[in-house]
Amino acid sequence: MNHIEFIKKQAKNFLKDWKTQTQKPGLDGYITYHYDWKFYDVGELFSYFMLDDKDEQNMSLGHAQYYIARMVGFKKWDDLVNASEKELELAEFLLRRFKNSIDIQNWEDALEESGIKQYGPEAALDLARKYFELGNTQEIVFLPPEKITILSGKEEKNVFDRFDNKHMPEEIPRKNSYVFCPHCQKSFTFIQSKVIKSNENNKLLIACKNYPDCRGTYFDYEVLTPTVIYGPERIQALERHVQVFPRLHMNDRVFCMICHDNYYYKDAKVVRFPEDNFDYVQCKNYPECEGSILEMYAVDDVK
Ligand SMILES: [Zn+2]
Ligand SMILES: [Zn+2]
Repeated sequence: MNHIEFIKKQAKNFLKDWKTQTQKPGLDGYITYHYDWKFYDVGELFSYFMLDDKDEQNMSLGHAQYYIARMVGFKKWDDLVNASEKELELAEFLLRRFKNSIDIQNWEDALEESGIKQYGPEAALDLARKYFELGNTQEIVFLPPEKITILSGKEEKNVFDRFDNKHMPEEIPRKNSYVFCPHCQKSFTFIQSKVIKSNENNKLLIACKNYPDCRGTYFDYEVLTPTVIYGPERIQALERHVQVFPRLHMNDRVFCMICHDNYYYKDAKVVRFPEDNFDYVQCKNYPECEGSILEMYAVDDVK
């Protein structure tokens, strides 16, 4: 099933839930509605969308489609079905996780706080994956340990595998980062952290190496090793640095005086060093090559 088919099916599911409506006139003259819902908590969503009695009784697929669109941040159904492939992917991802308005509101707050909305649906999708699979779960670290399973083996490895540049380009720290937990004041390699799972809802969280004695989580870590930066931040740093070097441009082929490799400047690495938390442009072959932007020359200049 592609994204659009999935989304259309959700509108039908929404309508199915809506049709379980039963009404009970209250003594005060107000009607209360009850729903035997399976997919979406429609009654609760209707109060979120501030529907009046007339709207709430006006069941149709068209209206169900409209509410599905609203749930994932679109003004109307037409806008949703004509959205880009990435936006549809994000909408499907969210509809698989949204049950009620709290889910929607929490996600919208997280998106707002992250400030990444401006980078488009791909960045939002990255955030959504992080938020629903690892984030929004910080509180599980405070559950009694008997309600928690500490993962090991392949399950644990799968979680850390997301922290490579391919799976999670925006993520800091990375698998091989050396990190500091401010709660217990201990340093360790990121993958020595504990991956914990709530037995109640299967939420995952990366917690301090010293869990359960320490209740720090990876949200609290400071990264102590240089971190390679990916995604929009990387492009911004490359552009910022290249302005200081009039002899270089984004699309230049450059020659590294240290390792003698040549490549496009835009493929150079951006590395954040813990000493000053500043992003530096390093050779494409970092960390094998220690060359920096100072040792890069446009290939035409070298000939
Ligand atoms: Zn700790
Ligand atoms: Zn080099």
